Amino acid sequence: MEYCKRCCKALTDPVSIDDGMGPICRSQAKNEQAQERTTDMFGHADFEYHIIDGTLVIYDLNEGARSVTNDIEYVLASIQNDQPASFQTVIYQDSMGIFDGVRINSKGEFVTFYPIREKVLDKALANISAGLH
Ligand SMILES: [Zn+2]
Repeated sequence: MEYCKRCCKALTDPVSIDDGMGPICRSQAKNEQAQERTTDMFGHADFEYHIIDGTLVIYDLNEGARSVTNDIEYVLASIQNDQPASFQTVIYQDSMGIFDGVRINSKGEFVTFYPIREKVLDKALANISAGLH
C-alpha cells in the first residue's frame, strides 16, 4: 500500500501512487506554490499551449526558471495577450505529466488549481466537460 506523502492517507489510483500524493493534497500543494511567488527567481516558466474548443491546454516544458505551477499568473496573462478571450476553461500538464484544472475568473485570471488527476489529454478534457470540478 502506498500513502500520500502529505496527509498519509492510503492512495488508490495509479496516477496518485506515481505522484506520491492524493488529488486534493496535490491541488493544495500547487495552490501553496502559486502563493509563494518569490522574487528571487529570475525568468519565467517555459510552456506550450493549445486551445481546443474553448479549453486552454498548457504543457509545462519544465525548462524555464519556474514551473507553470509557480508562474501561473504570468502564463495565463501572456496567453491572454497572444489570443484574447479565446478560452473559458483551463487545464495544464505539470512536469510529472499529470493534468490538473485551473479555475479562472471572468477576466481569465488565475483563481485556484483543482484536481483532474489524469495523464491522458482526452480523459482530462472529458473530466472537465463532465463537470467534475
Ligand atoms: Zn494527501
